Amino acid sequence: MSLILGIDLGTTNSLVGVVDSGFPILLANEEGQRLTPSAVNYAADGSCIVGAAALRKRALDPKRTVTSVKRLIGRRSGEGDWQPPYQLSEIGTTPVQVSAEILKLLKAIAERALEQPVNRAVITVPAYFNDAQRNATKQAGELAGLTVERIVSEPTAAALAYGLDKLSERQKIAVYDLGGGTFDISVLEMREGIFQVLSTAGDTQLGGDDIDRAIAESICPTGADPAQFVEAAEAAKKRLSTEDSTRIDLPFYDGSISLSHEINRNDFEKLVRPLIERTRTHCLRALSDAGVKPDELDAVILVGGSTRIPMVRRYVAEIFGREPDISQNPDEAVALGAVIQAGILSGSLKNVLLLDVTPLSLGIETFGGLMNTIIPRNTTIPCKAGEMFTNAVTNQQDMLIRVLQGERELAKDNWELGRIVLPFPAGAKGSARVGVQFTIDANGILQVLARDTATQTDTVLEIQNTAVDVDDDRVEQMIAESVEYAFEDMNERVWTEAKLKAEELLPAVDAALMQFGDAVSDDERSAIMTAAVKVRTSLNAPEHDAKALKMANQELDDATQELAVRLVERAMEESLLRRGLV
Ligand code: AMP
Repeated sequence: MSLILGIDLGTTNSLVGVVDSGFPILLANEEGQRLTPSAVNYAADGSCIVGAAALRKRALDPKRTVTSVKRLIGRRSGEGDWQPPYQLSEIGTTPVQVSAEILKLLKAIAERALEQPVNRAVITVPAYFNDAQRNATKQAGELAGLTVERIVSEPTAAALAYGLDKLSERQKIAVYDLGGGTFDISVLEMREGIFQVLSTAGDTQLGGDDIDRAIAESICPTGADPAQFVEAAEAAKKRLSTEDSTRIDLPFYDGSISLSHEINRNDFEKLVRPLIERTRTHCLRALSDAGVKPDELDAVILVGGSTRIPMVRRYVAEIFGREPDISQNPDEAVALGAVIQAGILSGSLKNVLLLDVTPLSLGIETFGGLMNTIIPRNTTIPCKAGEMFTNAVTNQQDMLIRVLQGERELAKDNWELGRIVLPFPAGAKGSARVGVQFTIDANGILQVLARDTATQTDTVLEIQNTAVDVDDDRVEQMIAESVEYAFEDMNERVWTEAKLKAEELLPAVDAALMQFGDAVSDDERSAIMTAAVKVRTSLNAPEHDAKALKMANQELDDATQELAVRLVERAMEESLLRRGLV
């Protein structure tokens, strides 16, 4: 199956991705960034560099550094007033050739990441691009060595990324796209499973760059050039999307004068409000062109890095009378949609088998109230796993098997799904052998089989759908709690295990001392007694100090080393005697 790339060929930045093993992913360039600047710098000999490296050359070499070429390839009719700081004719290139250089780099990024050649792609363009502009984009792709399988409108791609392709017939959405340099608003309608663009409007000269400039001008001392503060302004703007206040510090920006400026959200919002308000008329126009009232929209989605600004989100909610969907990364939504479209075309999205996994671990309660996991969470179903257990108490008549689900170390903190009472013939402690097997079928039905191996009696418990059918919120909460209490839980588990060991050790030591009392030296006896007291003290302490108890157990173990050896020797002698070999 041949891969198809999804490409967002943007005005400022471009992205490339692919569907890999059923998941749409965006690929990082050599700098580890998924956003690659749409910039090309040409040397005098006609060779060029592309991406971040080209952008770094812009300040020194503005006349030979091509940025925002999309504005030239995609000039909206009647809006050809953007004058680039470079002349393509002087450089000796065309918008298609420049775009091809960017696409070549994206292709190379993909091939490096995927370790294989790729030569097919889906490329996105603004909804308002006409035939000529779409064709020019396609040509650029072909010049870069890519077969362009489809040109997709950006709002359509974004809607795909937001999962809105599942909307039903005639449902309508608005896509509000505020990027670095342009603003686009589109109204789409779902018809026969495909999005139709009902209307588009926008402003090719409005975006995050204008906000950066407004900030730079507001902090610029009289007489200085605001351009030198634009970068710091952009960084501050981004911080203000999550922080209430930030500081712009430019020490000795001109060699002797420093600039230090505190700017809070309020000041920022006052400054940029007029810019954001300019989007309103475009939104209203797009709605009216589409013949759609705001309350007839089924969703409003956000695209473009500038929609991360909280005020933009509030403003969108105000215009459309509904909260926008902010579930996707606004600067990656278009690219992600292109990737999804590419995946659908290549068949790789259709062909993936959707496998369910167990949302939480499944297991049973064991000695001391501990959770014993049998199937860990995130195991792909269907699956089967099991373990062998024994009785903890002499003359136990039956075994209670509590089937549990959850991530906590102690059984009591997990959820009980059901229980089995398995009878078995009474015997000494540890004599029973009970196999417990968990099977989850493809429908998520859990079957617990408990078998007493001595009698071959089976007891089966079937639990419908619990294995996979757990409310997302409850699963989240369970996992969050397991992390939150991880330390306490672990301490409790270690404590319980140490306690079980101590409870086994103490009576055994007492019994051995009774049996060998005469053969044990006073020193040895007093060492053993001291160690045993320590274990008992730890065991009865009000605080569960797992470490202390473990250490006391260890000391008792060490102190009884010789005693244990003698016990074994005695047992062997007795056995040989019994068999008449001595
Ligand atoms: P795009 O064209 O979608 O890549 O958007 C780029 C614009 O989004 C630039 O003007 C960025 O400064 C702006 N931007 C990116 N991240 C943020 C953010 N966290 N807060 C505000 N603006 C942002």
